Amino acid sequence: MRIIIELVLVAALAASGFFGWSNLQKSNSAGAKITAATIDAQVSAEMLADSEKELETAEEELDQLREQLEPLQAKSLELAAVKAALAGGPILDDLESSYKKQKNISVERQLGLGALRMLTKGSDDPGAAEAFRKALQMSDWNSRKNSICAAQIGLAAAGEKIKVMSECAVQVPGAEPAAHAAGPAAHGDAHAAKGAEPDAHGAKPGKDAHGKDGKDVKHAAGGAHAAPHWGYDGAMGPDKWGNEFPTCGKGKAQSPLNIQGPFSRGRISVNPDYKTGALKILNNGHTIQVNVPPGSKVRIDGVVFELLQFHFHRPSEEQIDGKPMAMVIHFVHKSATGKLAVLGVLLKEGNENPGIKTLWQYAQPKEAPEMEVPDVTFNPANLLPREMDFFSYDGSLTTPPCTEGVRFFILKSPVNVSREQVTAFPFRANARPVQPLNGRTIITSN
Ligand SMILES: [Zn+2]
Repeated sequence: MRIIIELVLVAALAASGFFGWSNLQKSNSAGAKITAATIDAQVSAEMLADSEKELETAEEELDQLREQLEPLQAKSLELAAVKAALAGGPILDDLESSYKKQKNISVERQLGLGALRMLTKGSDDPGAAEAFRKALQMSDWNSRKNSICAAQIGLAAAGEKIKVMSECAVQVPGAEPAAHAAGPAAHGDAHAAKGAEPDAHGAKPGKDAHGKDGKDVKHAAGGAHAAPHWGYDGAMGPDKWGNEFPTCGKGKAQSPLNIQGPFSRGRISVNPDYKTGALKILNNGHTIQVNVPPGSKVRIDGVVFELLQFHFHRPSEEQIDGKPMAMVIHFVHKSATGKLAVLGVLLKEGNENPGIKTLWQYAQPKEAPEMEVPDVTFNPANLLPREMDFFSYDGSLTTPPCTEGVRFFILKSPVNVSREQVTAFPFRANARPVQPLNGRTIITSN
């Protein structure tokens, strides 16, 4: 009897070793992510030399991944110790012959057998897969999730083509969501992986184009992207953004939102003061964006936010009571301390919009760097409604890297855009799906 107890202990030890082993697999993928994030950071540095914010975000994500890697390296040491102790082989033989004598062994013991086999004989040992398969058959789907997960992960590790249930995702130590502006925590937010943003791709105006007196169309750096890392459908669609940009998948205060009650009253003053200036427009591959020369600002409760750029989404990313509008304009502002505030103006199908008419004349149908249009000026105030009532909430960039800590002000009054103008916008669909509220408060200004 005592030998059986000892053998069970060995099985438990082997199972814990196996857990370490599967974490080691995670560390490999964390390593790949670090490489990807590193490349991303380099690309950002080269292409957006003046875009420190994006760079900062990439570095932050890089740090997070490094933190994840450390505990995994410790685990792999533990695992090496367990492997060394079991390398001789007789323990597995003893266990197998002992179990064979028993009529019915438990799922846990069967799993332990698989784990011990994999540990001592390697993941291509057919006996290991066989043992896990048997454990899977023995597991009752309702009450034995842990056993099922262990068996599925074991089979996957043994190279079997098996889909591991999403509930079985292995918790990696230190891999907590990186919510900078974490709102009230929400449990099990499985939707957050819905996609992300970019509004701030190009949150900075492109290279400074002041002081030039030439009349040539000016191409500034910052508009062109190397390989597109994300898009709005298919393999690079919003539900995949989290793979490369963790905050898009794990953030708890993401934008856009479906705006619906209950609201809380808030007295925040929002006073835009936009100025006429040179027209600098680009197609960044995700949207049409207008980079605004210095001087236009909005005062939010007295704090000055400089208007950097504005851009368009079709349909509107924000929804009101579950309904999107034809389009939305996001005016992206930044304070002296680096805080971001986005003013959203919803566009509703109706009469032609004269401001948009001007912009569309110079909007490029395909990705193209910033172009300063000679002799043409523009005032972003032409795109604002008369009424400044708004809904407001804390959110994120709506494009990768989905950085949080962005305050949104969505104006309640839409402005018109004609159907032809909507159709002429070169992006058929560039709206991230609405994100979970996760307990955030939506403020109404009246
Ligand atoms: Zn946007």
